[in-house]
Amino acid sequence: MSIIKVMDTELANKIAAGEVVQSLVSVVKELVENSIDAKSDEIKIELKESGFKEIKVTDNGCGMDKIDAKKCFLPHASSKLTESQELYHIKTLGFRGEALPSIASISEVILTTCDGEISTTINIKGGEILKEEVGDYRKGTTISVKSIFYNTPARLKHLSSLYAELANICEYINKISLSYPNIRFTLINDGKELFKTDGSNNLLKVINNIYGINVTKKMIEIKNENDDYAISGYITYPEITRSTRSHITTLVNNRVVKNQEINKCINDSYHTFKPDDKYPIVVLKIEVDSSLIDINIHPTKADIKFSKIDTLKELINKTIKSALYKINLIPDAVVKEDTTTENLKHIEFTPIIENEKFFVSEPKIERKESVNIPTLDLDDLNVIPEKTKEVPPLYPVGIVHGTYIICENELGMYMIDQHAAKERVNYELYLEKLNSGENERQGLLIPITLELANNEFVIIKENIDTLNNIGLKVEEFGINTIKVTEHPTWLKDVEQTIPMIIDLVVKKEKNFELKKFNDHLAATLACKASIKGNTYISLDEAKSLIEELRRCKNAYSCPHGRPTIIHYSIYELEKMFKRAN
Ligand code: ZN
Ligand code: ZN
Repeated sequence: MSIIKVMDTELANKIAAGEVVQSLVSVVKELVENSIDAKSDEIKIELKESGFKEIKVTDNGCGMDKIDAKKCFLPHASSKLTESQELYHIKTLGFRGEALPSIASISEVILTTCDGEISTTINIKGGEILKEEVGDYRKGTTISVKSIFYNTPARLKHLSSLYAELANICEYINKISLSYPNIRFTLINDGKELFKTDGSNNLLKVINNIYGINVTKKMIEIKNENDDYAISGYITYPEITRSTRSHITTLVNNRVVKNQEINKCINDSYHTFKPDDKYPIVVLKIEVDSSLIDINIHPTKADIKFSKIDTLKELINKTIKSALYKINLIPDAVVKEDTTTENLKHIEFTPIIENEKFFVSEPKIERKESVNIPTLDLDDLNVIPEKTKEVPPLYPVGIVHGTYIICENELGMYMIDQHAAKERVNYELYLEKLNSGENERQGLLIPITLELANNEFVIIKENIDTLNNIGLKVEEFGINTIKVTEHPTWLKDVEQTIPMIIDLVVKKEKNFELKKFNDHLAATLACKASIKGNTYISLDEAKSLIEELRRCKNAYSCPHGRPTIIHYSIYELEKMFKRAN
């Protein structure tokens, strides 16, 4: 009887382990979060072969006594918690307490722990305690997990490659160290230190450890609040982007949360400041009364539900936009440093983690001059300025390849992409006209007729109002054919642009929003109407283009988020020519 019962539990544990322990990072997560719950301020994670061979986590937390040490690996231990275990298992991070027995059931575990008196060492294999010892050990806990999935080889096959598992673990350690800048984290793989934080409770230092000095220098501190939410953190200049959203980190009351709506809101706040397929690096802390959030405790998800999410989104949007409007957005040309051997270790990892020095620590943070953060006047963050920071006067001196205008002023040399610049000017003009709805019209001498597919014809008929709002007068003209007789005066090249507009209306999204549609239309028309590369304009034309650009609300990027102006400072020029170093 009792044997069967034990087997049942073992089996149940293995099944549970399959759910909870899906990857090596979930083991790391469980161990690290237990260490955090034990009030550690130093946590060391040592891996062998990315964790396939061994995951060892050492902390300096409160530790456990002998009884609790044994109990924490028993199935359903959480229901019989003693006081000190309670402490060890507090669900602040929302992870299930059953994960420790689950991990123990599919691996070899050695636990050494000490609550300040006598230490206990326990060896467990496949969920069974093999050995117990007492000794003297410093306060804290070390858990080593070896040969994961040794008794469930099918699971083992499901794990990703060494690099992919390591990358996931690094990403997790990055994020957890952002939530706990007060804890000193060290991550080691095969004896090599990959990442380290100093536990000084300085968020910017952690960002520096993760992303390196060049990103850190381009971070803007933000801080704002409304009645329900307080937000703070760091956002990158729009020129610093990554190809995935995964570098947008949101912490809600110090807990890493993945909420798509908030991530999207952060990203959308950069609209036209950066290309839509690039994402900023953001660490955003959100403080909120816990009664306004609902934590989903599913072990693999870290989502959260907010009440009054609209006010939160508005706060985030305003704060980020406002910060972007206030900084000087002309990117400096980057003069590449020599690739010395010191940088070679970064390159080793680049193919797996999208070209970033992802988990390589910036070892000497003590360089005091280096973290140079632009300070913002945060008093009036709630008011988005009318216009981004003024572009200084620029004097054109020539045009290269019919594409780039070269300019100068006392701050150095500038290059302007003439297409991107004109596109920005046209975009703002068109958008204003479209959104105002007052479109002065002009009749066409020869109406434009367009033959459509019958489904397209139906869509156009349904959207006569939208077209009318744009300033186009459209009539039916026989079978599946429409006739455009009037257009807004600001619309040029009508033979090309009118069919384009019709096409955009046909293809418009299901959840149509007029503002978004106008934005998209303005950007598309602006691109069409702007001087192409390889077109030579005169210096006078360049001059007036620059003046038009300087009057724009955001002169620094085209509506697709590409830069319009790049700056070469005098120092950088001198450096390139080795006049200075
Ligand atoms: Zn374009
Ligand atoms: Zn563009």
